[in-house]
Amino acid sequence: MKTKQELKEMVCAAIDARRDEIIAFADAVAAEPELGFKETKTAAKFTALLEGLGRTPRTHIAHTGVVDAYPGARSDLRVAIMGELDAILVADHPDADPLTGAVHACGHNAQLASVAAIAYALHDTDLMQHLGGDIVLMGVPAEEYVEITYRNKLREEGKLWFLSGKQEFIRLGEFDDIDISVMQHSAPAADGYKAGASSVCNGFTVKLINYKGKGAHAGAAPYDGVNALNAAMLGLMAVHAQRETFRDEDRIRVHPIITKGGDIVNIVPADVRLETYVRGSNTEAIMGASEKVNRAFRSGGDAVGAACEIIELPGYLPVVQCDALNDLMVEELHTLVGDQVMKICPGFGGGSSDQGDVSQLMPSIQSFFAGVEGGLHTRDFCMKDKELTMITAAKAMLCLVIELLYDDAATGKRIKADFKPVFTKEEYLRKWGRLE
Ligand SMILES: [Zn+2]
Ligand SMILES: [Zn+2]
Repeated sequence: MKTKQELKEMVCAAIDARRDEIIAFADAVAAEPELGFKETKTAAKFTALLEGLGRTPRTHIAHTGVVDAYPGARSDLRVAIMGELDAILVADHPDADPLTGAVHACGHNAQLASVAAIAYALHDTDLMQHLGGDIVLMGVPAEEYVEITYRNKLREEGKLWFLSGKQEFIRLGEFDDIDISVMQHSAPAADGYKAGASSVCNGFTVKLINYKGKGAHAGAAPYDGVNALNAAMLGLMAVHAQRETFRDEDRIRVHPIITKGGDIVNIVPADVRLETYVRGSNTEAIMGASEKVNRAFRSGGDAVGAACEIIELPGYLPVVQCDALNDLMVEELHTLVGDQVMKICPGFGGGSSDQGDVSQLMPSIQSFFAGVEGGLHTRDFCMKDKELTMITAAKAMLCLVIELLYDDAATGKRIKADFKPVFTKEEYLRKWGRLE
């Protein structure tokens, strides 16, 4: 029986030995970036890598998801280690796909590569024989909540219920037998730390707003029309007039875009569409701000006599911190990267992730590795430190899981027992899934 320390050294050496293959995999994923629920090539690459190691993963879960379970010597606990398959849309990024505008400017290729690194380590060592629980590797679709109209169409066709991958994994039962979830994300290097155990993350709801007016000749008879674009502009101004009522500590962000401003210039716009998130640090504040935003958008329609239809969709929930997991990860990070470690790093506080939803159901952690130059989701994004965001990140996650599952999974069981979920799965599906 190897000691915990011997196991950690063993898997770190195994990951180092596969460094070139891990980075080549990340580069191959970056070379063909795909947006959420369309990640067929990415999923195929991840599946091929696992199959090349003699595995038979389950595929096409929530359209493109991939899941591969590794049993331990005992199966007292199950830990998921997740990577995201999708890219983001930044059409003017130099590496963007010229057809779709997709690019890995959120670093999910590095994240997926770190899960691939763990697959290599599990293949190349006898780690699982020493653990009292199972590891489940997941390639999860669609973390970026984008192309909302497209995804809502899939929803209306019954092909999705939620609009993101982890939410769909929850609904489809992929987390039913998972006790703890682990993942990592790349972060900008400018924040003054090399790695953080976790980060604050906002939640949000989503709205599709459709103003319906009346078309008329824009020159000859504008008085016969009802201008839906004017309604939308007044609605946007009314949203701005709510901002002074948002409390700093609630971190409310409302950031609408117009996705359709009219049809042709010489007809009064009769069909104008917007999308928006309403983000915040807690569900109560999000729902309160959401009501104000609805009222504001409706007022634009009232002012000009246009109809205002608002479709509400569940976005993501704020991240629930698991203090015990964060503390364990801080220890691993100190060993791997030295002093420049934060427990809760600040850089991602205004962002959101569907890991937030998972974190409301079970102990979860998303650690951050500051290897990026340029901002996330910008044309300047550049994955600079691949060693940190792929190799070190993989080691940190797997060493954390060794802590959780060693000694008949004693630590993992204790963390699970101490954690108070906000929702059961059924409550989550009812309350958040239907925005009750
Ligand atoms: Zn992102
Ligand atoms: Zn991301």
